[in-house]
Amino acid sequence: LPEEFITAQPIIDTIDAAGYEAYFVGGSVRDTLLGLPIHDVDIATSAYPQEVKQLFKRTVDTGIEHGTVMILDHGTGYETTTFRTESGYQDYRRPDSVTFVRSLQEDLKRRDFTINALALRSNGTIVDYFNGLDDLKTKRIRAVGNADERFNEDALRMMRAVRFASQLDFDVDPATIQGITHHGPLLEKIAVERIHVEFVKMLQGNWPAKGFQLFLDTGLYQYCPDFKTQLPALQALTTRLTGSVGNETAVWTLICTQLGLQGRQIDQFLKHWKSANHLIDDVRIATDMVLAIQAEKLDDWVLYQTGEALIPIATQIATLMGATDVDATDLVARYRGLAIKSKKELAVSGQSLMAAGIKPGPILGKLLNTLEYRVATGELPNDAEKLTGAALQLANS
Ligand code: ATP
Ligand code: MG
Repeated sequence: LPEEFITAQPIIDTIDAAGYEAYFVGGSVRDTLLGLPIHDVDIATSAYPQEVKQLFKRTVDTGIEHGTVMILDHGTGYETTTFRTESGYQDYRRPDSVTFVRSLQEDLKRRDFTINALALRSNGTIVDYFNGLDDLKTKRIRAVGNADERFNEDALRMMRAVRFASQLDFDVDPATIQGITHHGPLLEKIAVERIHVEFVKMLQGNWPAKGFQLFLDTGLYQYCPDFKTQLPALQALTTRLTGSVGNETAVWTLICTQLGLQGRQIDQFLKHWKSANHLIDDVRIATDMVLAIQAEKLDDWVLYQTGEALIPIATQIATLMGATDVDATDLVARYRGLAIKSKKELAVSGQSLMAAGIKPGPILGKLLNTLEYRVATGELPNDAEKLTGAALQLANS
């Protein structure tokens, strides 16, 4: 057993000793069986939340109405969730009610895919009610029970299926594919933020072409913001998806570049995808640099505007898109050699120029922008006296 399970064993054993059952469940069990690194260890238990809280000194009610209590142990938090069933799903996305139950099997039955419905006992043995081990061996993503019903209950599971295909290099079982193909439109009932998360994870997987092709073939793409009319461009992307795309900024920079979006179009598109403002800004800037590379117009000003953090991302995406003559290390080195990295580093300021006799107003702002450009591109040295002189000359011309 991996370290993470070993250190969590005392928690399971404490629950066991009190007469309840507890198991490791979810992604950590799946990933361990696949020999992959694990992130967080989830525990499922027959003990009700109040019963869990009585057994441990330090707990946090992270989602007590759904049965989740976090147990704090030596600085680590363990999410412990009471076995539950879900019912309702009137809105295709969340159950109307959850009911705590004492049966592990009932709990595993509500999970999305067989490979995610395995439980691991503290002694290392596996509980497998739905042939998840078989599907792990044959590399299959298969809905637990009836695929149509499961996607009808919660449409996000369709995005999760294609995401896991990308992450694990698994195929999706035919009946499950059919369920996705039939229920795609239900994706429109799901909060875009949640689709966004799965979409990014899909392209961050090590086999992104796999999930992405399924995303297109099943028609899921049609129910995502602004993708409906973009099949040719999206299809053309699959040949470029040879490995994990990288971070969230890289993912969206690739998509925006591929869709030919620029400037405000990027803002609109990413707003439709409910992206955070800082992400939108980064993607707009990185996409600008990719376009400059593609147009062979990469200069110091572009590097200055892109900034050190985004230069490697833009370079990587430009390379994915076919550029051959760019190297992130070289470009970062070139960036570091720029005389200034931001306007604040200019040797003159609005104040100092006014003190030198330039009137406040829009002209002053434009002058500062001009000086910023000339210093960043090396046309002028970053020297207060020389810049003030240049400013006075410009102001009088
Ligand atoms: P990851 O490695 O990305 O965390 P994971 O399988 O652990 O993958 P989580 O979202 O952390 O995914 O969910 C933990 C477990 O909860 C899943 O393995 C699955 O058993 C169950 N689960 C999560 N989301 C759903 C869902 N939408 N429908 C049914 N079961 C789900
Ligand atoms: Mg998880």
